[in-house]
Amino acid sequence: MELTGWGRYPRFETTMFTPSSAAEAIDLQTGLKGFAPRGNGRAYGDAAIGVASSLCLRGLNRMRAFDAGSGRLTVEAGVMLKDIIATFLPRGFFPPVVPGTKLVTVGGMIAADIHGKNHHRRGGFGQHVESLLLALPSGEVVVCSPHENSDLFEATIGGMGLTGTILEATFHLLRVESGWMLQHTVAAKDLDAALAALSDNEDATYSSAWIDCIARGAALGRSLIYIGEHASRKDVEALAPGSQMMPGLRKRPLAIPVDLPSFMLNRGSVATFNELYFRKGAMSVGKPFLNAIDPFFFPLDGVLEWNRIYGKGGFLQHQCVAPIEHASRVIGEILTRVSGRGNESFLAVLKKFGASSKGLMSFPSRGFTLALDLSIDQGIFDFLDEIDQLVVAAGGRIYLAKDARQSRATFEAGYPNLQRFREIRRQTGAEGHIASRLSNRLGI
Ligand SMILES: Cc1cc2nc3c(=O)[nH]c(=O)nc-3n(C[C@H](O)[C@H](O)[C@H](O)COP(=O)(O)OP(=O)(O)OC[C@H]3O[C@@H](n4cnc5c(N)ncnc54)[C@H](O)[C@@H]3O)c2cc1C
Repeated sequence: MELTGWGRYPRFETTMFTPSSAAEAIDLQTGLKGFAPRGNGRAYGDAAIGVASSLCLRGLNRMRAFDAGSGRLTVEAGVMLKDIIATFLPRGFFPPVVPGTKLVTVGGMIAADIHGKNHHRRGGFGQHVESLLLALPSGEVVVCSPHENSDLFEATIGGMGLTGTILEATFHLLRVESGWMLQHTVAAKDLDAALAALSDNEDATYSSAWIDCIARGAALGRSLIYIGEHASRKDVEALAPGSQMMPGLRKRPLAIPVDLPSFMLNRGSVATFNELYFRKGAMSVGKPFLNAIDPFFFPLDGVLEWNRIYGKGGFLQHQCVAPIEHASRVIGEILTRVSGRGNESFLAVLKKFGASSKGLMSFPSRGFTLALDLSIDQGIFDFLDEIDQLVVAAGGRIYLAKDARQSRATFEAGYPNLQRFREIRRQTGAEGHIASRLSNRLGI
């Protein structure tokens, strides 16, 4: 079948296997060459597309054990984040780190060592994994944790599925008093004000900035910064007396029923949207308010298949991280070039990262990260290559879970533990057996 990532670019033929149990997954993968594990396909590019075949693990969807005293949860790797939230939020628990969509599997969250709006406080999801069960290509199943097979553990956290198939994982959920977020918004007039606002609010648990990437000149980087905490019982009683502590989650998202023609997404439409969005956000500046979990963490999940707004050809996401000392210059330059080029990003998000985790191939490192969605037009690949050069020259890197096109040179410059990672792949027999389109493209 033809398979893509969430960006619908690139497209490749692959044979899809859909095991419904760990035993079946182990059995299948021992017979395969050139396969890659796949969760829910929310990586944007080619990370979850196997060169010859892809092993979709959604069928491994059982929750195994939960200890309400400690919040310790063991699940199979195909369990979806949305099901964890739906099951445990009403009981007063929330995952320690979540990405911008809840339509991902636990295996995908570990393999990409996903980051949330709280990376500056809690690191990546992998940092909260107590242990995992990994099936090697030989069929051997090993327990990996920071204390057991720790090399393999560190290679698997952020290892993009290239060390083996994660079958099961154990991690802790956080206790929360309500299903609400206590949010306040800060408006920043330009990029430096946005970077400063993220730094000034480092004590807050969650923060991220929406950037108006149409703004130019003195307004370059004007942003809305969203700051949030899990609302306490007292917050809910004060701000919305009589409300339920655990409100329901979003029921049914809207759908984009067709691929929109590419002319619908142009400078004019994005500029209008951004202007209205900025003005609406600026109205809530200063006043803390209660927001529900879904719009706070997962706004895009409110529109099913929103990737279709970019049309049939798909789109690219570019996410980089730049060290703190170079962030203003590098991110400023990227925004200037993007805005000058006329291929406006419909979505631009800025966050502050804390220290790197132990994951050998994990993306986050101390600095600021910028994510941009870009439609595919003529010259976009050369343009992004130039941007990548700026990023790696400043000591930064590009996120593999969002990547569909970076060059080997950029990748190698950005991931200093690559040789060690390759060695571990050789030792475990993964090399030659596990190969995604991403690992092939980047020579991993
Ligand atoms: C709207 C949106 C918002 C996002 N926001 C964020 C964000 O804020 N932060 C962030 O970090 N990411 C974000 N992402 C990216 C997403 O979190 C990651 O790509 C995640 O890995 C997707 O999980 P998945 O289950 O869909 O995995 P897939 O896309 O299917 O696979 C991703 C990678 O994980 C590997 N993998 C999957 N399952 C297993 C397994 N069981 N064993 C071994 N390897 C496996 C695959 O081989 C592949 O390399 C976002 C994506 C979208 C679409």
